[in-house]
Amino acid sequence: MSRSAHPAGPRYADVLPEGRSSTGTAPPADLNALDGKVWSRTVHRAPGGAVTVGGIEVTRLAEEFGTPAYFLDEADFRARCRAWADAFGRDADVFYAGKAFLSRALVRWLDEEGLNLDVCSGGELATALDAGMPAERIAFHGNNKSVEEIERAVAAGVGRIVLDSFQEIVRVAHIAQSLGRRQRVLIRVTVGVEAHTHEFIATAHEDQKFGLALAGGQAAEAVRRALRLDGLELAGIHSHIGSQIFDTSGFEVAAHRVVGLLKEVRDEHGVELSEIDLGGGLGIAYTSADDPREPHEIAKALSEIVGRECEAAGLRTPRISVEPGRAIVGPTAFTLYEVGTIKPLDGLRTYVSVDGGMSDNIRTALYDAEYSVALVSRASDAEPMLVRVVGKHCESGDIVVRDAFLPADLAPGDLVAVPATGAYCRSMASNYNHALRPPVVAVRDGGAKVIVRRETEDDLLRLDVG
Ligand SMILES: *Cc1c(COP(=O)(O)O)cnc(C)c1O
Repeated sequence: MSRSAHPAGPRYADVLPEGRSSTGTAPPADLNALDGKVWSRTVHRAPGGAVTVGGIEVTRLAEEFGTPAYFLDEADFRARCRAWADAFGRDADVFYAGKAFLSRALVRWLDEEGLNLDVCSGGELATALDAGMPAERIAFHGNNKSVEEIERAVAAGVGRIVLDSFQEIVRVAHIAQSLGRRQRVLIRVTVGVEAHTHEFIATAHEDQKFGLALAGGQAAEAVRRALRLDGLELAGIHSHIGSQIFDTSGFEVAAHRVVGLLKEVRDEHGVELSEIDLGGGLGIAYTSADDPREPHEIAKALSEIVGRECEAAGLRTPRISVEPGRAIVGPTAFTLYEVGTIKPLDGLRTYVSVDGGMSDNIRTALYDAEYSVALVSRASDAEPMLVRVVGKHCESGDIVVRDAFLPADLAPGDLVAVPATGAYCRSMASNYNHALRPPVVAVRDGGAKVIVRRETEDDLLRLDVG
């Protein structure tokens, strides 16, 4: 597969079949093996037995916390935070994208490990502040922040608000001024690059809701307006190009174009903006076919790209920020399910139903995402069988893992786990069919603690006030 940059861009139709990390139809050599790329760091299988995380057997976890449930490997989460912070060092800032998964415990871990935090709603801001994240380390994002959300963010003293429209420039300036503040802001630009796994696409125009386009001068006009307003301190430019990206070539084009804007700003206003935020979107391994880069490789590549571009433009190198969400929390959790109905379809595959589904993992239905799955309550020497892991919802698209292999002796009551569900699973969970959203249990050093409890029928009925 080609991993080279194509500024002119292949079209999606050319890219998707190759870029997808298909598990194919060949069964893995050993169904009991757990690929360390896909599973969190403290997950192991006892020889010939069950899987453990943080030293605790999943069978014990299921007994104590029930299924379905997300188990988050706290040691792995903290290690990933440190790896990102260390990789970017003192000359750059790492903002964890809270939308991937946010809870009070997680905010405290981020704080302790020295990371900053991106939020994009009043609810995320409230969670961050309630858990004690210092406001100056919070960035506030969103294409349609309400006046009330902006007021709360400015009043709390968030470190930066990422401006996303002309209207918002005026709104934030006005609110800041009326609160007697000067709000530090970035302007989110769209650079005409859309990254997707191993490829990126250079698009001619900006047919999307986020940001202000560089092409056509919208972004330059936004800078002009922001610089004129007393309520704003314009720190720099923000760009976020996509998700599940394995290759830095898309960032290269983005950095080139953002630095181009910085140069324009310097030439027009005599101002050198001091920050460039390259967003998030760094990929993780959902299956063994995925090959993500380490944080230090990404940090090195990005700082080289920005350094080179700035030198060529005769600019001082700005401070770099990145905003990984998935790459920090994604690999740290798995979802544990109990197997229910098993339905072999002759000549096709076996449908394995689990006690959750699209309510706890919408990504397969929403994005055609690929996942792995393993039998974790015991080892098995049975032959591999081709399965589709499905949920219990009233929807035929309710698929958790589209194509995978599980041992043919799989039986109701077995526990299976789907790894790499730390990002965009609990945070996108729904109550479809009045499902009760699963808990998130943090596991560390032989101890397990609920950090988000399981929803109850009382919780559901409490909202139902008719
Ligand atoms: C979603 C998002 C991120 C995080 O994306 P990941 O794929 O989880 O790394 C970072 N920045 C912005 C602006 C986003 O919208």
